[in-house]
Amino acid sequence: MAMPQTDINKTFNFVLNEYKRNTPDSELIDDVKNVAAKLDKKSVTIAEYEQNGKFHPCTLQRRFGSWFKVLEICGLEPSRSKLNISKEELFSNLERIWISLGRQPRYNEIKKPFSKYSAGTYENKFGSFHEALESFVAYMSNGSESSQNDSSENVSFIENKTASKIAHKTKREISDRLRFQILMRDGFTCKTCGRSPINEKGVKLHVDHIVPWSKGGETIPDNLETKCEQCNLGKGNAFVDKK
Ligand SMILES: [Zn+2]
Repeated sequence: MAMPQTDINKTFNFVLNEYKRNTPDSELIDDVKNVAAKLDKKSVTIAEYEQNGKFHPCTLQRRFGSWFKVLEICGLEPSRSKLNISKEELFSNLERIWISLGRQPRYNEIKKPFSKYSAGTYENKFGSFHEALESFVAYMSNGSESSQNDSSENVSFIENKTASKIAHKTKREISDRLRFQILMRDGFTCKTCGRSPINEKGVKLHVDHIVPWSKGGETIPDNLETKCEQCNLGKGNAFVDKK
């Protein structure tokens, strides 16, 4: 009987498919979604995908950057057990929460949907929630000079209206760390009107240049201050805040 030949070919094709580089993104994504649906889960671990998926997890990780990204694109929840969420990602979530509260978040506030990750994720990664906060503060306090120690090679020029050039020692962009440091320094309170998310829900804080960068102001702590969105947008106008 000539039956095994075709079966072998089939298997062989299947193996080749796994490593195909030109599989469209949508096909990869759909397959992860199918696995999630099949398992009836809101998230899929790498191991679960390896067992149930059509492609090799590495193919997806390489294509999209990380398994976390894969889940994000699929609209699935980040799985906590096997997934290695980076510290940076956890810090950036914590930073957003801290800024929106205007203070150190409490353990029971670290939950979905307000937080992208549960407090348990932080505990797993750092040992305890308190240690997570400590690492975060240490991380954010680090490198405060990063945006001002640029050497002359990074001096940027911008042209103003009189066509003369302004030499800057710093970049215009305020790094996340520096922004957070200024917010901390200013007590998460608008320097103009005194509003703060600490006592008023939904107040959005910005960190802005005092002397505009376009007028030669540098991106350094002395030239940065905290403003609420309203005061920041009303800058330069006769804008009156309701108090
Ligand atoms: Zn304000």
